[in-house]
Amino acid sequence: MLKNDKYEVVIGLEIHAQLNTKSKAFCEDEVAFGAAPNTLVSPISLGHPGTLPVHNKEAVNMAIMLGLACGCDIREYNTYDRKNYFYADLPKGYQITQMDTPICKNGGVEITLPDGRTKYINLTRIHMEEDTGKGLHDLDIENTLMDYNRAGTALVEIVTEPDFRSGDEAYAFLSEVRRLVRYLGVCDGNMEEGSLRCDANVSVRPLGSPTFGTKVEVKNMNSMTNVKKAIEYEFERQCKMADAGEEIFSETRNFDAMKGTTFSMRSKELVNDYRFFPEPDLPPLIVSQEWIAEVKARMPALPKELYQKFITEMQLNDYDASILTESKGIADFFIEVCKHTKNYKAAANWTMGAVKGWVNSNASHIEKFPLTPATIADLIASIDSGAINFSIAEQKVFPALLENTSKKVDEIIAEQNLALTDDDEALQKWIDEVLAEFPDKVEAYKTGKTNLIGLFIGQVKRKSGGKADPKKTNQLLAKALDS
Ligand code: ADP
Ligand code: MG
Repeated sequence: MLKNDKYEVVIGLEIHAQLNTKSKAFCEDEVAFGAAPNTLVSPISLGHPGTLPVHNKEAVNMAIMLGLACGCDIREYNTYDRKNYFYADLPKGYQITQMDTPICKNGGVEITLPDGRTKYINLTRIHMEEDTGKGLHDLDIENTLMDYNRAGTALVEIVTEPDFRSGDEAYAFLSEVRRLVRYLGVCDGNMEEGSLRCDANVSVRPLGSPTFGTKVEVKNMNSMTNVKKAIEYEFERQCKMADAGEEIFSETRNFDAMKGTTFSMRSKELVNDYRFFPEPDLPPLIVSQEWIAEVKARMPALPKELYQKFITEMQLNDYDASILTESKGIADFFIEVCKHTKNYKAAANWTMGAVKGWVNSNASHIEKFPLTPATIADLIASIDSGAINFSIAEQKVFPALLENTSKKVDEIIAEQNLALTDDDEALQKWIDEVLAEFPDKVEAYKTGKTNLIGLFIGQVKRKSGGKADPKKTNQLLAKALDS
């Protein structure tokens, strides 16, 4: 984070999240990313005269759920407004949005900073609206091509109070919001595909000043890192301007990801007059207490709640609990493993290690992981019972299970002869060999260097191909060395 002993940066974020509904906000057109251009359109989303919008209950459910998760007040009497402007990606010539009656007000999100501190970020509002189409500027040399598939897709806009004081705080907020919308299943949270978009309002003020400076709005950042970079660049730029006694004007700026800088797009003096007026074609949307209760009943456990559960009920440490609640899929998998074993720590280690490792190295999703949580619990049980050790479980049994998912842990151990050997005769033979190979070390052990036992155990383990039962080996070794 940038340090400056004269100025402080103040930031408020506006985040657009595309809702995971099957159909668009006000008509039946399908919502999908990457479909052939202009195949997901109808007279309604294209704004033909005489067509009428209708409410999408699922979109409203999702907005309510997000609001509840952030502790917002949910509005009962909702109306929509038309925000009028002309642009090629807006076939109707206006966007349907909620101007004065956002469905959610107040509430907030707690963030955790890299140094472990937490901070509560207040939300101003969350309102519902519809997305625009998309102009494709780089497919044709002479023309901009228009794709209206996205036109009319349901969005929520999350507006925060100007509560952030660094790019790190904004970054932490975005990751928390992304985790939250993914947990709730209301948005896929993919910033690169534009499902989650963020504008940052940035101003500076002298340290200790009670009032805010004039803000600049930065748009067009398609990753959390870019949001942080843009804020840090703006902070520096505005500090320099303030030092030089230059006045900062309210303007909209664009972020150039290649250069890591921002450049002016338009000044706010030239801002459109959107001529908001009530949308006459949609009846007021009434959100009853029963409706809210229905949504609440369907709401999955939130990351914060699972984190607490993992710490208190499963006795995990802070680190494990954080990693396991990063995604709902991973948390759910861990919970399922814990239904089949009481060794929660091992369940956590396997989920974060081998299972997550498979997901990463296959660039896949936990939902596609081929083994059941019960199988992972079986692996843990075979280690805990002493049948096999961890390295055999991880390096031999686990890969064999992946190759043949219909096999059971016990079958693999038997077929590949992987069980630990506690057979006295075999162990004694390996021990004798090892002691004969290291006469000087045996001498040293006898003169008091008893920690050399580790070396002997390691050698026996190696000779046995990892199969020597460590407890039995230890006993027999001690006996042989003390004789
Ligand atoms: P506008 O009228 O330009 O839309 P709003 O007051 O509605 O501005 O605020 C839009 C966003 O800008 C909010 O996220 C808010 O927190 C943030 N914001 C407002 N004033 C400032 C400021 N002085 N510095 C930084 N962010 C600000
Ligand atoms: Mg505003």
